[in-house]
Amino acid sequence: MNNLIFQGAEAKVFLTDEIKSDSKIILAPQAFIRKSRVPKSYRHPKIDEELRKKRTRIEARVLSKALAAGANIPKVLRIEKYDLEMEFINGDRLSQTLNSYSESKQFSIMREIGTQTAILHNNNIIHGDLTTSNMILQENKIFLIDFGLGFISRKIEDKAVDVHLIKQALEAKHFQNHKKLFREFLEGYNPTEKEKILARLEAVEKRGRYRH
Ligand code: AMP
Repeated sequence: MNNLIFQGAEAKVFLTDEIKSDSKIILAPQAFIRKSRVPKSYRHPKIDEELRKKRTRIEARVLSKALAAGANIPKVLRIEKYDLEMEFINGDRLSQTLNSYSESKQFSIMREIGTQTAILHNNNIIHGDLTTSNMILQENKIFLIDFGLGFISRKIEDKAVDVHLIKQALEAKHFQNHKKLFREFLEGYNPTEKEKILARLEAVEKRGRYRH
């Protein structure tokens, strides 16, 4: 089995059980995800290769750091050039299902997202694309996926931008209840520099308002 489940601008994502080994294909006992960064014809081939390799390595490093910090994320299984193989998180994508849950379930999910985000931020891990499209609910556990824009930073600004992204995602996709949902997120979000991060969030939002 080797199914393309997502085609993005940067990468193709496959759900597969085929381990590539030299010219042979070995079947894995369980399906896993292979994220393959695709070439861009507008880049010089050498630069393109380096960039795809570099982004693959960075994503793997951020994921490994997040795992060591105790966050719920897919475990990295293997890195090969432009391919990142990781655990398949089989569950509900929150962008599609959050609105359909009872209010109390939505609230407890938001608190858990807050807790997970605080684990990342306490370890100076910035997700970079913190939206409900990149969150999967599996048996009452929230997993954060897609660390393709992730990076390591101690900066309050970078952490505030992550919080801004989740707030924006709630306003866009879960607007019926976005204020309450964000309030619950903040209940669970208790990183060491919470006050400073939330003060900076206001500045980030003001800048956003001027831009639009
Ligand atoms: P990405 O390019 O990392 O954003 O992945 C694109 C899409 O592939 C995601 O929105 C998910 O639907 C799916 N996906 C990626 N990684 C995983 C994973 N580890 N487990 C389950 N689905 C995934």
